[in-house]
Amino acid sequence: MRRRRPCLVCGTLTRNASRCDTCQAQWQQQHDRARGSAHQRGYTSAWQRTARAAVAAHRAQYGDWCLGWKVIAHTAADLTADHIVAKANGGTDDPANVQVLCRGCNARKHNQ
Ligand SMILES: [Zn+2]
Ligand SMILES: [Zn+2]
Repeated sequence: MRRRRPCLVCGTLTRNASRCDTCQAQWQQQHDRARGSAHQRGYTSAWQRTARAAVAAHRAQYGDWCLGWKVIAHTAADLTADHIVAKANGGTDDPANVQVLCRGCNARKHNQ
């Protein structure tokens, strides 16, 4: 049996490495909240599938070609799919709300 040590947070003796079960659970919860789960950020596996399909369809139609955001269309190998109307503004994962741009254009679109 492993020796008990005091929990780093509350001092309760525990067999865990650093925190007792209660403090560990609390810490994990805070950690998750700070990071924001993938789901909260809107990146569900369903969205990832939609995004991949959108990029594939875009490539099939245009090749490695970004249609440009506030710049003229240009070749781009790093195409990414993004929401036209952001999820935060009520946008959906519907393919009609998906736009394919290169990473640079996507970043510019987000920063404006
Ligand atoms: Zn504790
Ligand atoms: Zn671009």
